[in-house]
Amino acid sequence: MPAVSAVAEVHGSIGVIGVIGAGAMGRGIAQIAAQAGMQVKLFDVQADAAENARKAVLAQWEKLQQKGKLTEQQFHSAKQQLQVVTAMDAMADCEIVIEAIVERLDVKRDLFRQLEAIVSAGCILATNTSSLSVTAIAAGAAMPERVAGLHFFNPVPLMKVAEVIAGLRTRSEVVQRLVAFTHQTGHRPVITKDTPGFIVNHAGRAYGTEALRVLQEGVAAFPVIDAIMREAAGFRLGPFELLDLTGLDVSHPVMESIYQQYYQEPRYRPSVITAQRLQGGVLGRKTGRGFYDYT
Ligand code: NAD
Repeated sequence: MPAVSAVAEVHGSIGVIGVIGAGAMGRGIAQIAAQAGMQVKLFDVQADAAENARKAVLAQWEKLQQKGKLTEQQFHSAKQQLQVVTAMDAMADCEIVIEAIVERLDVKRDLFRQLEAIVSAGCILATNTSSLSVTAIAAGAAMPERVAGLHFFNPVPLMKVAEVIAGLRTRSEVVQRLVAFTHQTGHRPVITKDTPGFIVNHAGRAYGTEALRVLQEGVAAFPVIDAIMREAAGFRLGPFELLDLTGLDVSHPVMESIYQQYYQEPRYRPSVITAQRLQGGVLGRKTGRGFYDYT
């Protein structure tokens, strides 16, 4: 496999990308790419979602400028690079389109099929899925070899790493191009195979599920578990703080998906605690209440 720099040399740097889905992840990906000088086209199916995301990104850039982390010139050019589009046809000239939409296999497959009728044959289709099989998403495409995973973490501008996931049929050149793209955004790419949960949501899964078991067994209260995991085990966030940050609407289905994909392997079994909280809409920071109160 050629070195990353050689690939970037052959293809040149990436100029135009599309981001579909302007939620927590899509807006973050759009932010770092525009900040890195790429032209970014941001689309969301929900009226106003992309425009609200653009405003939120501008507010982030203003804060960075106030802190002296972005010059006025950088702020101005990043602003020019981030464009909200109201139809997917606008993605026609994109070199990479990254989807960060709802975590559903049928919807993601459908989206890539629609995109394939719009973009050029050389355009890469990347999925930010946390837990679905990249190979299964790709299988719905006419050209599965152009589909790969590009898994950023929340909040994207601060979590400076991304998993680049090769599906079973992904061309190695596509993986290399996504590696180059990730470098271009200032993030560090880590290449992984397509397995349930990839690296982080596989190896890190037990951090949440085991802590939920400790809680359910009545060993300690959740703030105590959080505090000791931070202080003694060296984690930046306790498991319940992390669940609140991610939101149970994201993390509980991820737990279920990994459990199912491993044929109900008991060690991945999700918790009834998060199932109930999800049903009750007690999702975490995004709803003002999770394990902790944010109001
Ligand atoms: P979110 O709910 O904040 O945002 C999703 C956005 O996609 C919404 O604005 C919605 O209107 C839009 N959308 C839904 N269906 C669409 C469609 N067909 N076309 C266009 N737009 C559509 O979700 P999120 O937290 O940003 O997660 C997005 C993806 O990233 C999911 O696949 C998720 O698993 C993954 N992910 C999430 C996190 C996280 O911590 N939140 C981390 C890594 C990966």
